[in-house]
Amino acid sequence: MTDQPTPMMAQYLAIRDANPGALLFYRMGDFYEMFFDDAVAAAAALDIALTRRGTHQGQPIPMCGVPVHAAESYLLTLIRKGFRVAIAEQMEDPAEAKKRGSKSVVARDVVRLVTPGTLTEESLLEARRHNFLAAFAVVREDSALAWVDISTGALRVAPCPLPRLAPELARHAPRELLAVDGSRLDEVAAEAGAALTELSPASFDSTAAVRRLCDLYGVETLDGFGQFSRAELAAMGAIADYLALTQRGRMPRLLAPVRESGAGVMAIDAATRRNLELTQALSGGREGSLLAAIDRTVTAAGARLLERRISAPSRDLADIHRRQAAVAHLLDDPRLGADLRDALARVPDMDRALSRLALDRGGPRDLGAIRAGLTQAVRIAAILGDGDPLLAAAAADLVGHDALTGLLDDALVAEPPLLARDGGFVAAGHDADLNETRALRDEGRGVIARMQGDYVAQTGVSSLKIKHNNVLGYFIETTATHAERMLAPPLNETFIHRQTTANQIRFTTLPLSELETRILNARDRALEIERGIFARLVAAVLDRSAQIGQAARALAEIDVAAAFADLAAGEGWTRPHVDDSRAFIVEGGRHPVVERALKRKGEAFVANDCPLTEGATPAIWLLTGPNMAGKSTFLRQNALIAVLAQAGAFVPATRAHLGLVTQLFSRVGAADDLARGRSTFMVEMVETAAILNQADPGALVILDEIGRGTATWDGLSIAWAVLEHLQAQNRCRALFATHYHEMTQLAGKLSGVENATVAVREWDGEVVFMHEVRKGAADRSYGVQVARLAGLPPAVVDRAREILTALEAGAREGGARPAALIDDLPLFRVQPPAPPKPAPKESAVEARLKGLNPDALTPREALDLVYELASLF
Ligand code: ADP
Repeated sequence: MTDQPTPMMAQYLAIRDANPGALLFYRMGDFYEMFFDDAVAAAAALDIALTRRGTHQGQPIPMCGVPVHAAESYLLTLIRKGFRVAIAEQMEDPAEAKKRGSKSVVARDVVRLVTPGTLTEESLLEARRHNFLAAFAVVREDSALAWVDISTGALRVAPCPLPRLAPELARHAPRELLAVDGSRLDEVAAEAGAALTELSPASFDSTAAVRRLCDLYGVETLDGFGQFSRAELAAMGAIADYLALTQRGRMPRLLAPVRESGAGVMAIDAATRRNLELTQALSGGREGSLLAAIDRTVTAAGARLLERRISAPSRDLADIHRRQAAVAHLLDDPRLGADLRDALARVPDMDRALSRLALDRGGPRDLGAIRAGLTQAVRIAAILGDGDPLLAAAAADLVGHDALTGLLDDALVAEPPLLARDGGFVAAGHDADLNETRALRDEGRGVIARMQGDYVAQTGVSSLKIKHNNVLGYFIETTATHAERMLAPPLNETFIHRQTTANQIRFTTLPLSELETRILNARDRALEIERGIFARLVAAVLDRSAQIGQAARALAEIDVAAAFADLAAGEGWTRPHVDDSRAFIVEGGRHPVVERALKRKGEAFVANDCPLTEGATPAIWLLTGPNMAGKSTFLRQNALIAVLAQAGAFVPATRAHLGLVTQLFSRVGAADDLARGRSTFMVEMVETAAILNQADPGALVILDEIGRGTATWDGLSIAWAVLEHLQAQNRCRALFATHYHEMTQLAGKLSGVENATVAVREWDGEVVFMHEVRKGAADRSYGVQVARLAGLPPAVVDRAREILTALEAGAREGGARPAALIDDLPLFRVQPPAPPKPAPKESAVEARLKGLNPDALTPREALDLVYELASLF
């Protein structure tokens, strides 16, 4: 038996087939339903019950559903798990469909495609992070990347040769990347944590792009925005096309496209970002990253700006100095900073409110957010004054919105509701027509109370009540015993019987139903008036969206400056001297993240100097020292200081002089990269090659144990050759940590290469980490001691020490090979555990010092004691 699909199922299948690649949320009353494979996948992803409904081609149809009122949280889960969701709504009242015939189905259509890069709902977005949608376009030899945050409207584009794509994606961390069908960018996208969406070549057509963009901005030509290459146009055009597809014609508010050359920012590739944990810790979250350690912003927009600053530190000296000056200004006047932060904390997320309004997804609360933000902006401008150029320029953008705030103030209640649907957001007194209608509606309630009193008097039934429900509307209710009288003449002429329930009898009267109609009309009319006012207010806001956006940006800028000042004051950071020299001199530098972690444990961080240059070219430090001494921490803290300095922040150091860093590279040997399925050593070499091929004299390179991922002699040779290349070819500033002591000999031979080491002390066979970096080479690696600290059995540690001594002696005597040594050393000489060591004998000085209470000594007694101790030697 072939069973024809029901009309509803036929509609479902048609909509689903028109929206391939997406889960279909099919609206049925108060639920979004999913069927077939969608249902199976969604039930598993959401952990909800999978049921069945009817059959299709003889098979039961799997089904699951989510309630509409809770749909957002389910959507969030699905998007996070990599799904795209098409939302099909009912496009007409079911009553309309019924009028067409009993078999007729409610018209439905997809109103929106929800994808990771096109979210706008507050609940689906992370307030403190951007949500970028990116597009990569190739036109002949040229290629470009465009990226947009539709929740704030910022659209940017830049030329982007294919090899630059991965680092650029790492910088923006888009949620979704658009590319042409068959682009083979899966791995690049996955690496950047972006969902890849492939579109047909038509979406990337550069001629169609011009048309789409002109439509989008309502202009005749794009010339007013600047000159764009074909590839740049194609990338922006693909974004416009995709937005039209996913938003179904309701285009978001986009700001004028901005062309970024990339020349203005410090180049940092993906491996470096990961490594330095700039905005994300290696463990994946924000906690443990530089950003988390330094984020003192109090607004969501400020937090997003800070993330951009850290992701793309500036290379523009004037910019850097302007930002530093603003921080210094706020630091000089702590009262000003504190007042600003108090005022900023009350600024809502205007950017996102604005784009929801533009997309027709906003509500009265979004209007309220704009009102609150602009009102607060005026206060902040007044606090700011004009003592600093950057802050004064920001202040100028904060004012001039009085007409709009006046209108919103007059029109909106104090706490507007989320949705416009139920009304109740227009303030009393704003609109005469609305006032009157509302009075009529509310008055109706009083009239009903009076009417009830009249009917009680007329019938003599004191328990008679006028009530309301959704089925009958208003009705008069009384108990069955009392109803007798009303069912009989003459009262039955007034009271019309409507319904008999178990205990009650319900009536209506002509005046009651007339009144009901009046009340209902007034309610509908009031809603209609409110909706009209809402639309006018939205239009008034959108009319000034450019200026509001500018105010929002100015607030974010102020927030970041105030946050940097608060950080500098709280942590004792200083203003770095940044210029266009080749200097890299840090005194008393600290690692902000490690320091914070240590502080939590009650431990102190040891500050270290890094006078890498005095203008010398190249300037390379070869850093040796045992594992766990603090080499990686030292390397990274210097890279982070460069990032912070060029982001416009103060730095964790007592003094810093930095020549602009154009590119920053950081690599760690043998990072555990099994997840990507490539040999760790191969990854290490690919990444190192990228540095040697790209680093220019303005670069700062951090190499940590490069070559560790292979056999000793291989590793040493590679590390050696890499260092020579950096010195001779790249001629950049570099910090190079290694445990190959042989390399320390290079320092004397290659100009500009110096040795440095992290100090440790050996005490009674144990190693004590001092975490102090000083010039010079480490004398040995202390690996055996560290192994002991790690809890290796004493027998193994002793044996290792023995082998080490033999190897070292062999090396001194002219290169005895390990193979030969193995013959000499007795094998498997595992010894029984050594008896516990006798306590070391106490010296006379120690005996005298024991039990002494320094607090109880007077200065005179202390001096006497020193003489006495000296005599005991
Ligand atoms: P390495 O790279 O030499 O193996 P790390 O840089 O990983 O050593 O440091 C090991 C540990 O030592 C860190 O986790 C940190 O707790 C501590 N440490 C490093 N540098 C310092 C410092 N300057 N002051 C205090 N503790 C430090």
